Amino acid sequence: MTVFKKRATGNHCPYCAGQGYFQLRLGGSETCSCCSGSGKNK
Ligand SMILES: [Zn+2]
Repeated sequence: MTVFKKRATGNHCPYCAGQGYFQLRLGGSETCSCCSGSGKNK
């Protein structure tokens, strides 16, 4: 029995962990281009 299990952490975008943006080391933040800042996975 093979179940393809996705690593589903709710509907959070896997790139920004549902935050909708990346924290920049230089300061400030950048909107996540994957979820367009919504923080949700497609
Ligand atoms: Zn994102």
